[in-house]
Amino acid sequence: MIIKIGKATTNDLVIDNASVSREHARLLSDKSSNLLEDLGSTNGTFVNDIQILKKQIGSSDRIRFANSDIYTLNDLLHASNDYSEEFDKLKNVYKSYIEEKVKIQSSNQLKTRLLQSLPFALPGIIGVTIGFLGKGNPTLLGISLFITILAPTVGIYMGAKQSAKTPALLQKIADNFKINYVCPKCGAFLGEIPWESLANKKECPACKAKWIKQ
Ligand SMILES: [Zn+2]
Repeated sequence: MIIKIGKATTNDLVIDNASVSREHARLLSDKSSNLLEDLGSTNGTFVNDIQILKKQIGSSDRIRFANSDIYTLNDLLHASNDYSEEFDKLKNVYKSYIEEKVKIQSSNQLKTRLLQSLPFALPGIIGVTIGFLGKGNPTLLGISLFITILAPTVGIYMGAKQSAKTPALLQKIADNFKINYVCPKCGAFLGEIPWESLANKKECPACKAKWIKQ
């Protein structure tokens, strides 16, 4: 990708400053390199106040064209609508959202099942114990019966209460996801679409920001 810089309105970054040449400089940018080149400008291109003809630049460099304001690499890239670096970070946002979702769902399923089955298992154990100790005592038999009847109700109640927690937790991570999984330029929510599918589109359908460097 080439980002053209200068005073002429045909540039990607137009700098309205008398000291800047019409076609002043250009940035050749790809995945691994950002090469800034002066195009024989009258007043020069400067990186960290040192005049350059050709130089690899990084995000911390301060770039100036003749007497222009200071620009960063990010400013130059955004001038040509390049948001690939920011878009790349969304990969992890999507990945951790899915992982968290699966974790909540599976741990909750286990808890719900345990809570529902525990009260069913207990009366059996208690019944056997009481029957063994009481040897036909009617009061103990009554207690045993009461527990047996009550247990399923308790189990269903506790299980329902536990599974009701799931939507609340999932809602919370979904809300966060909606804030973070957005186009880095226009902020539009990208939906529950895998990052790889979005990367195939290469640009934002709404604002045309470039997500992937060509
Ligand atoms: Zn956008």
